[in-house]
Amino acid sequence: TVAGLLVLSLTACGQEALGGSRYKPEKSDGVTVGLAMPTKSSERWIADGENMAEQFRKAGYATDLQYGDDKVENQVAQIESMITKGVGLLVVAAIDGSALSDVLEQADDAGIPVIAYDRLIMGTGSVDYYASFDNERVGRLQAQYIVDALELGDAAPGGRTRNIELFAGSPDDNNTKYFWNGAMQVLQPYFDSRQLTVRSGQTTLAKAATLRWSGETAQKRMDDVVTRSYGQERIDAVLSPYDGISIGIISALQSAGYGTAAQPLPVVTGQDAELASVKSIIRGEQTQTVFKDTRELAKQAVQMGDAALTGKKVRVNNTTDYDNGVKTVPSYLLEPVSIDRKNTSLLVDQGYFTQGQLS
Ligand code: BGC
Repeated sequence: TVAGLLVLSLTACGQEALGGSRYKPEKSDGVTVGLAMPTKSSERWIADGENMAEQFRKAGYATDLQYGDDKVENQVAQIESMITKGVGLLVVAAIDGSALSDVLEQADDAGIPVIAYDRLIMGTGSVDYYASFDNERVGRLQAQYIVDALELGDAAPGGRTRNIELFAGSPDDNNTKYFWNGAMQVLQPYFDSRQLTVRSGQTTLAKAATLRWSGETAQKRMDDVVTRSYGQERIDAVLSPYDGISIGIISALQSAGYGTAAQPLPVVTGQDAELASVKSIIRGEQTQTVFKDTRELAKQAVQMGDAALTGKKVRVNNTTDYDNGVKTVPSYLLEPVSIDRKNTSLLVDQGYFTQGQLS
């Protein structure tokens, strides 16, 4: 489309993308924003949806907030119905990043701008902006935490090897490969030097992936891995991409006898700073998580959406890294922060949790 070309050419020039050019600037009054979120099974998405709804309302928009219960067909139907009802803007955190091309073509035909929220939407020209975190950095933070906690030092052959197991996110979520690649950039030198070994042999993203980020699926896989690959040997670290997965992993490890003075739990990473995991970190079970302030992400999406709808400049800070196969989507990326026992107070200081919630 002409609009698509315009966005592409702006991106190619490395300039900030302009909103409004393909949409009639309107007053926010009477415009409804459709918010399509993936699931309520994880706190973060509940907070994302509520924060955006609140902030869009403050900016004068009505909102239609829907959750897809992690079922692709639900999300497609919800977006279709938003288009039919005449929303002026769509903000979508995709369940399956590659399953929305048809429905977003309908949005394009109706002149509705689309913001991909947190997860990039793949294989379509009908996505205008992307608001997320530096996803590769999330993976690097997790992996570097493991390297530091195991005191591996610089990668160099010789010395004792430590055992690690690897978990990845949902294969249909575009973020998964960014988290994984970020982590592997840090870990690969230690595999090469044999300071780290994956005894299960499950070292590829395909083997490590966890469909729909399910904690239960991860728990089962951890059970199997412990039984099959660890007799006398001990697991020293588990790369986990998400707090819900970390909880499953820790349950499996506890069932296998980990979590005692004689057999402490391995280093287990995570992501999202969900309350249950932050408490687990404080109890000394989960070791680390990556905090991504959903309030800030929501703010970003609201600013983008409002600018696009009112013909203002849409602020982006990355026009090179997020290619969805059809176009490079102008993006705004926020910085993730690593959290462990030593700095959980940051979450209270920043008002993400109250002290009461953590104690
Ligand atoms: C998000 C993560 C989240 C995961 C599971 C990813 O797309 O970026 O923050 O942990 O989905 O919900």
